[in-house]
Amino acid sequence: MNSQDILISKSRYMAGLRCDKLLWCTYNAKDLIPAPGRALQGRFTQGHEVGALATRLFPEGVEAAPGKYLAEDVVPATQALLGRRIPIYEAGFVHGSAYVKVDILNPVGRDEWDIYEVKSTTGYSPQKHLADVATQRYAVEGSGLKVRNCYLMHLNNRYVRQGEVDPGGLLTAADVTADVDGFVDRVEDDLGRMLQVIRAKECPEVAVGPHCLEIRECDLCPVCWKDLPEHHPLTLYSGRRLGFELLARGIEDLKDLHDGVYLGEKQRIQVEAVRSGQAFVDPRQVRSFLNQLRYPLSFLDFETLGTAVPLYNGTRPYQNVPFQFSLHVIDRPGGEPVHFSFLAEGKDDPRPPLLEALKSAIPREGSILAYNASFEKGRLRDLAGFDPSCGGWVQDVNARIVDLLIPFQSFAVYHPSQHGSASMKAVLPALTGLNYEGIDMGGEETGYEFIRITFNDTDKEEVKAVRRAMEEYCKMDTEGMIHILKKLKELAG
Ligand code: SF4
Repeated sequence: MNSQDILISKSRYMAGLRCDKLLWCTYNAKDLIPAPGRALQGRFTQGHEVGALATRLFPEGVEAAPGKYLAEDVVPATQALLGRRIPIYEAGFVHGSAYVKVDILNPVGRDEWDIYEVKSTTGYSPQKHLADVATQRYAVEGSGLKVRNCYLMHLNNRYVRQGEVDPGGLLTAADVTADVDGFVDRVEDDLGRMLQVIRAKECPEVAVGPHCLEIRECDLCPVCWKDLPEHHPLTLYSGRRLGFELLARGIEDLKDLHDGVYLGEKQRIQVEAVRSGQAFVDPRQVRSFLNQLRYPLSFLDFETLGTAVPLYNGTRPYQNVPFQFSLHVIDRPGGEPVHFSFLAEGKDDPRPPLLEALKSAIPREGSILAYNASFEKGRLRDLAGFDPSCGGWVQDVNARIVDLLIPFQSFAVYHPSQHGSASMKAVLPALTGLNYEGIDMGGEETGYEFIRITFNDTDKEEVKAVRRAMEEYCKMDTEGMIHILKKLKELAG
C-alpha cells in the first residue's frame, strides 16, 4: 500500500493506539472485521440523533458535504465554506496522513475556531475521547486554521424530557482544551508509526492482553482468541486481570494452574470443576434457597429500551423503560406453567398499559423469581415513581421477588461449562442443555429493534417477524428459569 494513498481517520487512529494488529487488519484484511450487528447499528442511530440535535444549538450552520464521506469530496467543500465564518457541520480536513471530520466547527472572534465533538455518552472520558479530539485539532491546525478551544459535547443525564426535546437542556459541553493541549504533540509521531504498521507486508504478531478489552471488546477477539483452550485463564470468575497475567506467563489452560497461584474461593471451585469435569454442588445451600419459595410461583422478566434522546415525557437519557414482560405462573407443586406476556404497540409511552397488564397477571401471593432480580426490582420502583398510585403494589411485589441468580453467584452450584459466568445465558445451557438457538433476537437488541419497528416506516411482515422473535426471546427467559429451578431441585436431592 502506497503511503500517499493512506489516510488515517479518527477511529483508525484510535484502533492504532490500541493494537497494531487491529490497525493492520483494518486496512489489509477488512474481511476479518465483522459487520456491525443490530445492537451496534442501533447505537449508531442513537449517535446520529444526538449529532443532529447538537447542530440545532448552532442554527445558522451548514453541513460541509451532505451525504459525502470521502476526503476528496468533504475537504474542498469545507474549504469553500470557511470564508463565510459560519458554523460548519462535518467539516473535513486532511493533514499529513490524518483525515478528520469535525462534528461542529464554530467560528469565534475575528479568525479563530472552536471544535465540538459530539458524543452520545453521559460524560467526558479522557480514555475514550481525548485521542479523538486531539487528532481533530492536529488536522485542523495543520490545515492552517487557528483553534481556540476544544469541547466534548455529551448528554446531560439529569435532563428530564417534558414535551419537545430541548437540545440546550439535553446536551452539555465540557471544555477539554487543556487535555488536548497535553496530547496533541504526540499525534504526528503516532501517525508516522501507524503508517509503517499499515504498510507492512505481514500482519504484526500481537499477543492477546488487556488491550483487547480496553473501552469495549475488540472486534477481532473472535479471531485472536479462537485458538485459546476452552478453559483459558480469561474465563476465570471475576479474574480478568489475573487471567491476562497467567496468559503472559504462558499458562493457557486453567487445568495447568499450579498451587502457587492465589485464587479466591469461587475461583478454586471453578478450577476444581474444570479439572474434574464435574459440576460442584452444595446441596445444603441449594436447599436453603429452595426452602424460601412459596406457591404460586411466578417467573418474571422485563425487556427495556434506553435511548440517548429520551422518547417519553418524564424520562432521562438512557433510562430503562420497560416495554415488554414475560410471566410464567405455576400455581402448585407439579402444576403446569401458565404464560402471560405483554409487548407494547405504537409510539405512546408503554408504561401505563404494561403496568395494567402486569397488575392483572401477577398473583397476589407467592414467590416471584427473577434472574438478576435487582434489575426487575429497579424497573418496578421506576414504575412506582411514574405512577405513585401503584406504590403499595410495587412494594408488595418487590418484597416477594427472589433472585434465581443467587445459587450461581454464590457458587452453591457451578458447572464447568459456565466458563466462569453466572449469567443465565451461561447457566441455562450448562445445567439443562437448553439454549436460545433458533431465536432471532438477542438481549441487547430487543430495545433497539422495538424502536426501529415502532418509530420507522417498517414493512408489516418484518414488524410481525420481529415482534414474534421478541415474544419468543422474552418467553425463553422465563421458561429457562423454570428449567433451572427444576434442575436445582434435582441437585438438592
Ligand atoms: S483482539 Fe486483541 S490482539 Fe487481536 S486485534 Fe484486537 S486488540 Fe489486537
